[in-house]
Amino acid sequence: MFNKDIITAFEQKETPFFYYDLDLLQATLKSAQGAANAFDFHIHYAMKANFNERVLTVIQQTGIGADCVSGNEVLKAIEIGFAPKDIVFAGVGKADKEILNALDHNISAFNVESVQELSVIADLAKASGKIAKVALRINPNVDAQTHKYITTGLDENKFGIKTWELSACLDVIKENKSIELIGIHFHVGSQIVDMNVFKSLCVKVNEFNSWFDERGYRLKILNVGGGLGVNYNEPDKESIVDFRKYFEIFDHFLERKAGQEVHFELGRALVSQCSSLISKVLYVKNGIKKNFLILDAGMTELMRPALYQAYHKIESLKAIEKKDRSNTSDFTHYDVVGPICESTDCFGKEVELPLSKRGDLIAIRTVGAYGEVMASKYNLRDEIRYVYSDEL
Ligand SMILES: *Cc1c(COP(=O)(O)O)cnc(C)c1O
Repeated sequence: MFNKDIITAFEQKETPFFYYDLDLLQATLKSAQGAANAFDFHIHYAMKANFNERVLTVIQQTGIGADCVSGNEVLKAIEIGFAPKDIVFAGVGKADKEILNALDHNISAFNVESVQELSVIADLAKASGKIAKVALRINPNVDAQTHKYITTGLDENKFGIKTWELSACLDVIKENKSIELIGIHFHVGSQIVDMNVFKSLCVKVNEFNSWFDERGYRLKILNVGGGLGVNYNEPDKESIVDFRKYFEIFDHFLERKAGQEVHFELGRALVSQCSSLISKVLYVKNGIKKNFLILDAGMTELMRPALYQAYHKIESLKAIEKKDRSNTSDFTHYDVVGPICESTDCFGKEVELPLSKRGDLIAIRTVGAYGEVMASKYNLRDEIRYVYSDEL
């Protein structure tokens, strides 16, 4: 990802910053779109993964839709230029004003997460003289085999409608002309790398699809959510996910009835690899038990390691420049940490890196998803800085 010219350009910039490789983003989107088109599948981009304006603009231009999880995301999507017919709105706690705003803009679907929410949407739509299109987000009790903090489709998770509440949902739908059932929706977790999880999901979706069909509801849309994982260990080996392999699972195992569309909501798989957090070593602190590299980036820029023990590859750009790994005595192990006053402000423990000194550039890889968007001002940190590949 980084050559000598890029590294030289980085040296002129104030750190830390998020570097965006827009070419890689484009290539990833193209690959995803191409694979989806081959199966006549539709993609919505899960905006919460990254709502950087330039990233959103590039995504909007590819014709991918937007999957939002807050009223402000809906507004942002519209501002960026996504057509309301390509915007869906999920979220377990939609506030009245968020629902009203979305109704106002005639978005394509509310992904409804409870029978209570369904009633509220019905009432608000009625009062606004609108018909709200809804998809029921069903919690299928499928184990995503991922970190417990990012699993969403189990009975113990707060997300989605439980199977035993579906009849009550149908009652609300029958009673209210202000809502129209257009589909069912699922999202079982994130960073899923075991394709068997998606197979299990398909089996469940088929069951629910038939359940509705038997009750006289031919659903227009089967929305199977997102969650496709990326390679955090070797970002350069697999800089673009194998979208074809992923879509093939659904093509093979999902039983589409005549006229049904299949929708996906990908976040991480589209934007993770196009960004790295570039930081400088402030201090090298050598101890008896540990050596620390103290960076100028911290959990305020990248929270994932502190929040869910996420792994990110850490590279010294000095080593990339030299490409000399023959003399291993030049390498040692560091705990790579940030400057924030929290012990969890640590990007990696015992990371093998070249002997480092103050001022060395460090890249933390695969940060395009759930990186910049989770930044905080804790410790009154600076605003996030970015550098885009076409500005170097
Ligand atoms: C977060 C989210 C997604 C995207 O998840 P990824 O793991 O980033 O693909 C899709 N759908 C819903 C409802 C979400 O909340």
